[in-house]
Amino acid sequence: MRALQFPKAYEANVVDIPRPEIRGARQLILKVEACGICASDIMAYKSTHPYRKPPLVTGHECVGTVVEVAYGVRDLRVGDRVAVEPHVGCGECHYCAIGEYQQCTDKGLIGVGEWVGGFAEYIVLEDSMCYRIPDDVPFEIGALLEPYNVGVHAVRRGDIQPGESVGVVGTGTIGLMTLLAVKKGNHGRIVVTDVSDRKLETARAIGADVAIHAVKADVVAEVAAVEPNGLDVVFIAVPNATGIDQALSMCKRQGRLVLIATLGEPIAIDTHKIQQFERTVTGTAMYNRTDWLLSIEHLAQGTAGFQTLISNTISLDQAPAEIDDLANGRKPDNIKTIITSFGE
Ligand SMILES: [Zn+2]
Ligand SMILES: [Zn+2]
Repeated sequence: MRALQFPKAYEANVVDIPRPEIRGARQLILKVEACGICASDIMAYKSTHPYRKPPLVTGHECVGTVVEVAYGVRDLRVGDRVAVEPHVGCGECHYCAIGEYQQCTDKGLIGVGEWVGGFAEYIVLEDSMCYRIPDDVPFEIGALLEPYNVGVHAVRRGDIQPGESVGVVGTGTIGLMTLLAVKKGNHGRIVVTDVSDRKLETARAIGADVAIHAVKADVVAEVAAVEPNGLDVVFIAVPNATGIDQALSMCKRQGRLVLIATLGEPIAIDTHKIQQFERTVTGTAMYNRTDWLLSIEHLAQGTAGFQTLISNTISLDQAPAEIDDLANGRKPDNIKTIITSFGE
């Protein structure tokens, strides 16, 4: 089968590799129909990701059609259209026992090491990783479910109360997905910040009330103009100290912050802004079944906001050039590129 392989840093080739085989009673083979390109895939390409290291076939934002099931698979059958939750818990640790398997100490992840990910024609999965998507939802929209679930989980971690004002610092893919997830609940005014005018425009189009340029404007003053006490809950979706400091300053006293961005290395932050003003900072990482069931419900309610976040769709053969463009900053306003054809 065809697959996009990163043999070493800054190299991507379409290669022929063996099609994966079922090895367990609850496994299935999925024909990949669409797979989004994630910032972590770009890190893998550059070999800067902590555990997605070349050589590998990565990709984890995928949807497809079930083409083969093992004898122990009960709820899925050949022909089903499913989205993929790309990680699976060990099933034995404390976190798996309480359903919080995103924290499993020994979990498996597609597109890491030997486990071929979604940048390939076929992948092997456990049945618990698959969720049927509504028939009328196109595959490229289904491919957005994985990053959307990051937002859904972050919003659950933020525990927004009815009418509370919300900030989203950074309107890249994850910030925008978080914004979409916030919109599904009961909330007050939503303020977003970013350094890209195009992305701020997109945020406004999908429901932000106030969009502030993080460099050209005085963010704290602009927030104070609409919410004099600051924002109740602020989501941090930019991976740098400046953004985190800005988020702390936008948040009201005794407010909450949810840190979504992955930072590769330790940074310095002014903890006085947490302690003195009694703010709470919560971490969030990936998602679990609760989020996926919720997100499938959201998807069934309509896909308008999701459609806005797709920048372009490409073939597997176009992926090496596209990934190199993304890795070298040649597409700064790109939100989500999706590979939608894998054959020749
Ligand atoms: Zn991702
Ligand atoms: Zn576990």
